[in-house]
Amino acid sequence: MRIIQEKQLDFSDVLIQPRRSTIESRKCVDLTRDYKFKWCPNVIKGTGIMQANMGTIGNFEVSKKMLDYGLFACLHKHHNIEDLISFYKKLMKDGDDKWMRCLLGIGLRDNGIEKLRTINNELGIQVGVKFDVPNGYIPQVKESVIKLREEFPDMFIMVGNVVTGDITEDLILSGADVVCVGVGGGSACLTRKQTGCGRPQLSAVIECADSAHQVGGMVCSDGGVTCPGDVGKAFGAGADMIMMGGMFAGTDEADGEIIEKRYATNERLVHSYGITESHEIVYETKKYKQFYGMSSTLAQEKFGNGKPSYRASEGRVTLVPYVGSVTDVIEEILGGLRSTMSYIGAKKLKDIPKQCTFYRVNNQLNRIYENTTIGK
Ligand code: 5GP
Repeated sequence: MRIIQEKQLDFSDVLIQPRRSTIESRKCVDLTRDYKFKWCPNVIKGTGIMQANMGTIGNFEVSKKMLDYGLFACLHKHHNIEDLISFYKKLMKDGDDKWMRCLLGIGLRDNGIEKLRTINNELGIQVGVKFDVPNGYIPQVKESVIKLREEFPDMFIMVGNVVTGDITEDLILSGADVVCVGVGGGSACLTRKQTGCGRPQLSAVIECADSAHQVGGMVCSDGGVTCPGDVGKAFGAGADMIMMGGMFAGTDEADGEIIEKRYATNERLVHSYGITESHEIVYETKKYKQFYGMSSTLAQEKFGNGKPSYRASEGRVTLVPYVGSVTDVIEEILGGLRSTMSYIGAKKLKDIPKQCTFYRVNNQLNRIYENTTIGK
């Protein structure tokens, strides 16, 4: 047994230091990057932000909007082959650029490879994959990456998840272009609670990005983004790409109905009747959408054959606030990122880590003083 004494940090433990900048307007920054990979020969131009390959958001609707905005997309592994082929066919009509940015989630124990073979044979392209195994440390992951790379030499391969530099390097040298970094930090994740394993996301990204870049690879920071500022922090830590689930879960384009809930507020309507009065409770209605982890019992029941008794559920089922169209969320994220870049003088996405110094802080966000008259 050994204890690592170095403090491990999350996004919420830091703020980015503003620095001299010649960027006069948020419009003057370039959010796109030419992604050149270690193995995949395609150069993909885009902004390395994508939705997680999770049940409600790894669908075609969210993907289409992400791709329209120049972002990446990641489909979940439960789409049937006919729908996948027709979706990729449509993307191909818009040019090479779009289908290349759309990854397909595949797992260790499913028919993902057969799906890839069918799509690739049918369409004559090699679609990118996110080879998704919650525990990227098991030997089958590395072995499968080697086989995938052998069979699909031109494929954009992203694999995960891990949180340490050694295995990041290993997976890249085995054939991965991008390694997904993040264990236990997802908003719908119960891994930390159920297994006691995980690592704070910022520290994980800093270490893994450094290792990946040493050997010509890249990392995708996966999980733990709760606000646009976290996106700037993840890029600042060295992430080449960022994947997020919860941020997109409350949107119109995510699967599932809007759920309305009525709450009693602290407000009262006072009705006077001569010398008596009654106080009527004021209610408000809030809107939500359901969101669930891919290892939750619900996801396993929805997409599989129920939860095997030897597996604990490592995902939660939750309601997230309804936030309207995914395009509003995308614009808010990209607007925040542009602003981060202008605060630190980063003209291009790739400049962010070079320009980034973090402060370790106790409070990330301003405190909101409720029930005060300040500012009124
Ligand atoms: P978020 O952006 O919501 O914080 O995190 C999204 C990420 O959480 C996903 O990309 C995936 O890596 C992770 N995730 C999704 N479902 C589950 C789950 O059921 N269990 C665990 N441990 N992680 C999950």
